[in-house]
Amino acid sequence: MYKEPIFLTPVFKERIWGGRKLKEEFDYDIPNDNTGEAWVVAALSNGSNKVENESLTGQTLLDLWNDHGELFNKDAHSTDEYPLLVKVLDANDDLSVQVHPDDAYARKVEDVPYGKTECWYVLEAEPGAEIVLGHHAQTKDELDAMIDQEKWDELLRRQKVSPGDFYYVPSGTIHAIGKGIMILEIQQSSDVTYRVYDYDRTDQEGNKRELHLERAKDVTTVPDDLARTTKEDREIAEETNLTIERLTEAEYFSVYHWSLDGEARRELTEDFLQVSVIEGEAAIRINEKSFQVQKGQHFIIPHGVETYELSGRAEFVVSHV
Ligand code: ZN
Repeated sequence: MYKEPIFLTPVFKERIWGGRKLKEEFDYDIPNDNTGEAWVVAALSNGSNKVENESLTGQTLLDLWNDHGELFNKDAHSTDEYPLLVKVLDANDDLSVQVHPDDAYARKVEDVPYGKTECWYVLEAEPGAEIVLGHHAQTKDELDAMIDQEKWDELLRRQKVSPGDFYYVPSGTIHAIGKGIMILEIQQSSDVTYRVYDYDRTDQEGNKRELHLERAKDVTTVPDDLARTTKEDREIAEETNLTIERLTEAEYFSVYHWSLDGEARRELTEDFLQVSVIEGEAAIRINEKSFQVQKGQHFIIPHGVETYELSGRAEFVVSHV
């Protein structure tokens, strides 16, 4: 069994709302000044990380998932696809207001295996920066009417965010990330998005981006189940030199914030663990072999690792299925 952390090179995506912060904040080698997304744990056909480990060079995470399922205890999973996708987003402008379908709708209407439930850990937010999360319609008729009449200010529920905030965004939730926010997003591995409102923006040729209003109306939860998106699920556990804050333990993923100050020893009880270093530097030691990690790095602790030790001062966002 392979028992080393699997280090991943981000895949960058140009977006009209993107910027340069992925370079400024994480020193990533971004391709242009409109870089909106870094896919940091990704195994999709249109974006999969190169594996950095010497003994695995030339392979992508998707290759490992397909050819070395034992690294992920794949046999225990019910689908053929890598289940999760982790991104860092730099919103240099407002993202469009959108909603995602659930698995059943995605399979029936889009012929893809997953809908999308996602969650956001806010890394950076300019003062006053806002997200859209949910809506104010009480009935389906009201929702349809407000969309048809473009009453966006009445319909959309906005709120201010700060670094360290966490939001759970189940499928069916209308949402948007606002200008000036950088987030780490953990989500079901899916790309199905229905755009509801794009601020009437046009490109250089004067064209608006396509909206998907009928499907958006179909899949939006009415009224909103706001209890699901709040922070009430957060809970802190203290271990030796490691503070573990549960952000969510939900249907598709569990996500934690770890704060390390010193040396900590842990057992791997999950099938595999996705780890993002969001602050500081540390070492991870597995079977007497030590690896340095620092802010901006992302890796997977594979199935088969029994215990691992962390040392240093760092913050992590950790997720698993
Ligand atoms: Zn989304």
